[in-house]
Amino acid sequence: MPEHSPRALPEGDPFGADTLPYGVFSTPDAPEHRRIGVRYGAYVLDAAAVAAAHGSAYADLLDQPVLNPLMAAGRPVWQAVRAAIRGWLDDGQADDSFLPLDEVTLHLPFEVADYVDFYASEHHATNVGRIFRPDGDALTPNWKHLPIGYHGRAGTVVVSGTDILRPNGQRRTSEGPVFGPSTRLDIEAEVGFVVGTPAPSNTPVGLADFRTHVFGVCLVNDWSARDIQAWEYVPLGPFLGKSFATSVSAWITPLDAFDEARTAPPERTYPLLPYLDDSKAEPGGIDLRIEVTINGETVSRPPFASMYWTAAQQLAHMTVNGASLRTGDFFASGTVSGPEPDQLGCLLELTRGKGPWLEDGDVVTLTAWAPGPNGTRIGLGEVTGRVVPARTS
Ligand code: MN
Repeated sequence: MPEHSPRALPEGDPFGADTLPYGVFSTPDAPEHRRIGVRYGAYVLDAAAVAAAHGSAYADLLDQPVLNPLMAAGRPVWQAVRAAIRGWLDDGQADDSFLPLDEVTLHLPFEVADYVDFYASEHHATNVGRIFRPDGDALTPNWKHLPIGYHGRAGTVVVSGTDILRPNGQRRTSEGPVFGPSTRLDIEAEVGFVVGTPAPSNTPVGLADFRTHVFGVCLVNDWSARDIQAWEYVPLGPFLGKSFATSVSAWITPLDAFDEARTAPPERTYPLLPYLDDSKAEPGGIDLRIEVTINGETVSRPPFASMYWTAAQQLAHMTVNGASLRTGDFFASGTVSGPEPDQLGCLLELTRGKGPWLEDGDVVTLTAWAPGPNGTRIGLGEVTGRVVPARTS
């Protein structure tokens, strides 16, 4: 291949042929034409254009303004499309269809159906329990028996790069509740899972069926207003302290890209009920190494491999009561925190509840990679966002 080809990746680039995440983009000359692209190095492969040029059966599926039709097509199609894209990359016929990343606009890649956020890190739950309930047990009695979660707000899931307006709300003071801009705005470094194949009501998705239903993985920043959250959360859990914005990466990486990174979750303290018992299942953890930066400075490196509950257990739990699954359902891991002080996934833990918190103008960026085949790295697309001042009227 010619040396200037976009296919000639820099050494160690985590967006090579074994990664191939999907996104939705448009170009300045046709801003209305959103279509599916695949990230490769510092480029976007216009997958819709290449598929059309090859007369591919998947051309229509790729010339779509969201990933949902591809996600709904099911795992055999996901595998066939991924193989086709690799073929187009290999044979050089895609070389005219690369666009530099900085010349395209990236959009929210999928239409979010329902959004659930979990609480799957034992280190995070223990640290937060000590801060919020200093006189009680750090972990609630249910924590090691089921993956705790809550329903979030799908309509305020935003793509990486979207400014985050500081939320207004109620917070408690010694003089009683007051209303105004949150003074304790925080991040939560998380990993999200996007459902492709739906499931009807009353057909629980067992651990072994995880790959049938989950299309891909992305980084998530679950912005959290700790002052609003602390006042409102008893007894029904997070509400306005979380629902103002949740940022997701513009790139959804297929689950198959993480085959080399699968790892056993931590040893379980108690035996699990059969629908959650993964002691004989394939390893359900993923060895993703996350990095959190604020204004360009690294503040933490949370290890996703340390999560107690796996995404397969979360999906099994979400559906065990008979709840259906829809294409576009989205669930996030909960804050990823490891055992070390430099592995904590939010400021609440990093500052032991004392702050400092996010200031207007702060830019928070999450990146991550996992080990791939033959010593390569599999990158997760970044999720970034800038805090802007609260609405004042
Ligand atoms: Mn969260």
